[in-house]
Amino acid sequence: MSSSISQRIVTIRASLPASVRLIAVSKQVTTELMREAYTAGIRDFAESRIQEAASKQAELQDLPDITWHFIGNLQSNKAKKALELFDWIHSVDSLQIAQRLDTLASQLGVTPLVCLQVKILPDPNKSGWMVSELLADLEALNQCKNLQIQGLMTIPPFGLDHDEISSIFNHTQKLAKEIESQQWLHIKMLHLSMGMSGDYQLAVRAGATMVRLGTILFGNRS
Ligand SMILES: *Cc1c(COP(=O)(O)O)cnc(C)c1O
Repeated sequence: MSSSISQRIVTIRASLPASVRLIAVSKQVTTELMREAYTAGIRDFAESRIQEAASKQAELQDLPDITWHFIGNLQSNKAKKALELFDWIHSVDSLQIAQRLDTLASQLGVTPLVCLQVKILPDPNKSGWMVSELLADLEALNQCKNLQIQGLMTIPPFGLDHDEISSIFNHTQKLAKEIESQQWLHIKMLHLSMGMSGDYQLAVRAGATMVRLGTILFGNRS
């Protein structure tokens, strides 16, 4: 089995444009499998739970050059821990949590890389800003000077067909360009974090710079 993970990584890496960052979503994946992915060249791992990430990071301390990405729902009481454990937070989903992270980042002396999570369509199962809400919050987000806001993250609602998913990704790219054109001092739109196992090719076509792949690398989660 071990060769199949590295095989899949090599194949998928080769299918992606060189500029697209392949982030291995390792939630519910053992550190043994993560080591195999590491050996196959993966240096970006994403987790969605703080506690799980903390114990895995302790087990993988001998692998010093991993970049850790948080992609889960971030609660206010876990924000400090998230800043201690992660280089990137893709799932900043409200002004309130952004401001909390900004305050804590200042206290900790860190400047985390973050993406703003948006919903192009209403989706009760997902958190994030609706487009109009995000546009209204930009001025306040621009004041979060300890955050390095790098771009947008999105997850399409379940059950859409390929055209509908592509449309979501294209809208997200358009929104990033619109925000970029407003030339905020502390909001950069360098990255689009979009695309999971089932839809990453569509995301890449719509300009994704980071794809977050779990199942297609590691197999089904239990
Ligand atoms: C679980 C998860 C992924 C990976 O999903 P797969 O379909 O297994 O590739 C990507 N992004 C987020 C936010 C996730 O929660």
